[in-house]
Amino acid sequence: MKTKNFDVIIIGGSYAGLSAALALGRSLRKVLVIDAGKPCNRQTPHSHNFLTQDGSTPKQIAEIAKNQILNYKNVVFYNGIATGAKKINSDFEVNTDKQMVFTAKKLILATGIKDLFPNIKGFKECWGISVVHCPYCHGYEIRNQKTALIANGDHAMHLLGLIQNLGNQVTITTHGKAKFTEEQQSKLEQHQIEVIEKEIAEINHHNGFVESIRFSDNSIVSYQSAYTVVPFEQNTQIPKLLGCEINEQGYIKVDAMQKTNITGVYACGDNSSMRSVATAVYTGNIAGVVANKELVNDEF
Ligand SMILES: Cc1cc2nc3c(=O)[nH]c(=O)nc-3n(C[C@H](O)[C@H](O)[C@H](O)COP(=O)(O)OP(=O)(O)OC[C@H]3O[C@@H](n4cnc5c(N)ncnc54)[C@H](O)[C@@H]3O)c2cc1C
Repeated sequence: MKTKNFDVIIIGGSYAGLSAALALGRSLRKVLVIDAGKPCNRQTPHSHNFLTQDGSTPKQIAEIAKNQILNYKNVVFYNGIATGAKKINSDFEVNTDKQMVFTAKKLILATGIKDLFPNIKGFKECWGISVVHCPYCHGYEIRNQKTALIANGDHAMHLLGLIQNLGNQVTITTHGKAKFTEEQQSKLEQHQIEVIEKEIAEINHHNGFVESIRFSDNSIVSYQSAYTVVPFEQNTQIPKLLGCEINEQGYIKVDAMQKTNITGVYACGDNSSMRSVATAVYTGNIAGVVANKELVNDEF
């Protein structure tokens, strides 16, 4: 089924997409937000480090935003998955899981990223609760705890530096052979940081709260929390289908105006920038404002 044209389609209706929708809604643009409703932080009990909402649940922050945006009747929401998108002349056609086809003059990708978890029993259940990736988001809450840093090499050194002043008693668990340079090695010795090179078999936990780590030799060490770094991939193939360039780290390449290399396509939030609610809201706002400005340029 084909519906009438929108000015802008936003794929992804979490913080980045909602922020873009607000700017466009206030500019009286006809906007469609397509959202599958699976933000990356959905398992974390509380979100931190975002002004006015420090300690709110991820859902509360998004709900307040969505309720305010619903006041702008020119913005409509579609709950579902955008399965494909293509550029036809200067417009865009977007397909959905329920066989809907929508068209628009501009397209904003606010699709986020998907974390790829290691094959460690209990890891997924603790993710965002007591196994965390970001000291700014959760470091204060797990300060002073006995903490495993599940990471290796440069990643481990980077995180270790960031949590140094939070009082944690940290052990690095590399989940395999340690890969540190001589310089890193001597820094670890200087700061008396223990490194455990054994494979991790299981994170023992209660309702997502770490209690201990069981290693492959069945030894068990008790911890209260863990930091980690996990790889990621884009949540959807749509940027690739459109021909958007992806950089070496796996992010959609954008300029300071959130424009991709495809004219009329903008990207914002985690799919193209540093990860935080504040950054998603900032980049979403820029994408919305710039899409509106380019519509103005086309029309006026
Ligand atoms: C465990 C965890 C805890 C975190 N805690 C904090 C914190 O305390 N403070 C902080 O500032 N940041 C935190 N972050 C980071 C923060 O959650 C992200 O930076 C933020 O969610 C990014 O917003 P986004 O809109 O770009 O993407 P997301 O919030 O991930 O949302 C992407 C949306 O796009 C939808 N989507 C994707 N593809 C499609 C498609 N094809 N069709 C339709 N919809 C689609 C998804 O379903 C989802 O709703 C945390 C992240 C994680 C993983």
